[in-house]
Amino acid sequence: MSTTPAGDGPSQDDCEQALEQLHQFLDHELPSADSDHIRDHLHLCEQCLDTYDLTQQVKDLVHKHCGSAAPDDLRTKVLRTLRTSDS
Ligand SMILES: [Zn+2]
Repeated sequence: MSTTPAGDGPSQDDCEQALEQLHQFLDHELPSADSDHIRDHLHLCEQCLDTYDLTQQVKDLVHKHCGSAAPDDLRTKVLRTLRTSDS
């Protein structure tokens, strides 16, 4: 298994960075340069786009059930539930 990433595809590093900043991106807490970077990445990367959609759903659910402030582990729990029920 020694596949090198294709020239114009998103790299693993890009994915990690995008996912790391996803919550901030959804909360509009990122500087616009970083937001642009993530938005670009989501156009290129279906995997991260899926995660983005999921995360947005989770935020929505959590918001409905708990108001604006939700503990991180609740988000994680809901996210895990959504992922499990998906397959
Ligand atoms: Zn990605």
